[in-house]
Amino acid sequence: MSANELPRWDLSHLFSGLEDPKLISVVENIVPAAKGFAERWRGKVEKVDANGLLSMLRDYEDSFAEPTGAYAFAHLGYAADSTDNAFVSLLAKIRERFNEAHRLTLFFTLELDAINDDQYAALAGDPLLKNYAHYLRQLRKQKDRRLSESEESILALKSLPGSTAFVQLYSRLTSSFRFHSPIEGEDEKHLTNAEILALLKHPDRATRRRAIENFSRVYEEQKLTISSIWNAIALDHRQNVGLRGYANVIDPVNEGNELSEKAVNTVMEVTREHYHLARRYYKWKASALGVEKLWSSDLSAPLPGASEEKISYDTARRWVLDSFREFHPLFGEIAGGFFEENRIDTPPVPGKSGGAFCMGAAPHLPPYVLMNFTGKLRDATTLAHELGHGIHFTLAAKQPYLEYSPVLPLAETASVFGELLMTKKLLDLEKNPGRREHLVAERIEDIIATTFRQTMYTDFELEAHAATAESTVEPEQFCELWSSQLENLYGDTVETLDGSKWAWSAIPHFIHTRFYCYAYTFGELLVLALYRRYQEEGDAFAPKFISLLEAGGSLEPQTLVGKLEYNLEDPAFWSGGYRVLEEMLDELGA
Ligand SMILES: [Zn+2]
Repeated sequence: MSANELPRWDLSHLFSGLEDPKLISVVENIVPAAKGFAERWRGKVEKVDANGLLSMLRDYEDSFAEPTGAYAFAHLGYAADSTDNAFVSLLAKIRERFNEAHRLTLFFTLELDAINDDQYAALAGDPLLKNYAHYLRQLRKQKDRRLSESEESILALKSLPGSTAFVQLYSRLTSSFRFHSPIEGEDEKHLTNAEILALLKHPDRATRRRAIENFSRVYEEQKLTISSIWNAIALDHRQNVGLRGYANVIDPVNEGNELSEKAVNTVMEVTREHYHLARRYYKWKASALGVEKLWSSDLSAPLPGASEEKISYDTARRWVLDSFREFHPLFGEIAGGFFEENRIDTPPVPGKSGGAFCMGAAPHLPPYVLMNFTGKLRDATTLAHELGHGIHFTLAAKQPYLEYSPVLPLAETASVFGELLMTKKLLDLEKNPGRREHLVAERIEDIIATTFRQTMYTDFELEAHAATAESTVEPEQFCELWSSQLENLYGDTVETLDGSKWAWSAIPHFIHTRFYCYAYTFGELLVLALYRRYQEEGDAFAPKFISLLEAGGSLEPQTLVGKLEYNLEDPAFWSGGYRVLEEMLDELGA
């Protein structure tokens, strides 16, 4: 099937087109709807009873849920064809009006904040409002961390020449970097960040080594700038943490992720205890590559004899649907709906956005998937991943708009689970030992990247923040902290090249969003642990998993998992996840 025969999506489930009168009226109504909401309720929130608050919350949702459909339509249209100016300007218009609508309705949360604690607790606990209990609970938590209105506005103002400026400086500086090509005979300096990092998958070992060297040289040249940015960002974060009354630098992130400190510590501890599994894999990979020991530039090296065999889109569809159906008929049915209703955009065509995503904008709207299918085996896994998201969004449609989206650590639950179902399917189908090996190795490398490496990043970040609290941290000190983390993970199974010690300065998460990385470990290991339960419990597991997904964002992760009688603070639950990885290593004979 060539690119122009692959199916495109049909956005008419949202609107019939840019000229659809319904679309036009929804967009025109964004600001008036918000004004209407304000006229009805401003000044009335503080004295409200449960019944009244229920009306307000539903009204509040209505004024955003409809326009969200228009936003989804514009966003999807733009993603499918970024050269279509009509979508660009529609998107800009909707964003602008959304901003205005948010400004007009800001009073609502401020007035909710003004309700005294006793009365608020009574409202949040009222059975009438049970569908919004989580929303109200989280809102109060945020309120308790907020400073006065004037303090907040000064902080926001001063962040522009402060942390915001440093984040911008980092982005502009690093995206201006150009690197010498590591390929012999092509040594002019012209590669971007993404291009040189892609060469870490080059089949030639010496090329990969030069890629790391050329990459890190540029970062090292800018060490004073980058370490100064790091110190400033850490100071800003520490001040914010102090002003808002948190005990530890990681607490605001845990609170946002709705996770207890103990749950986060448990995941990280269990992960560190299993670093030896990464080392087992590195040893196996060294022998598969025919080298005595891996260099740090070999970690993403392709395995020899990787399959070039292409698969058709129909095959990928059949595999995904079969594997989902085998798990539970409902999974197959929901995923099937995406194909039947043309809610997947498949071909790689010019102007379309790269990669893949699934968009579920609001409970009353059908979710859509975008991907770029090129016939690689990997594309089948991507399809399973995105349709996993699609199933999650569809099941969560039972929730009201304000409780629809899961928190970050749960956002990848169904998608990664879908990938695991797909890997199992592929292994069942594949009898060729070489190709089985590649499948398993690919999956293991993904798991190492999302669990062990992200925990190592977080450990580095914690230590670096602690060090900046003592005094300004010099570039070489950051390198030392980084290198000791690498050693914890690699042991003696990987030879760390000198350039690798600068990798900390190339990780944008540290600058953009503090302590973001552990959410990757959490999400991936949660799915592995749940998958382990599925292996142990068999068919009894699926209905539980479905009820977890149906909850959307309506419960904190512990409460949600607790309903299945699993405990996020129990190391044994998490260790189960690493059993799945261990079995994969056994399969490799590692
Ligand atoms: Zn995803």
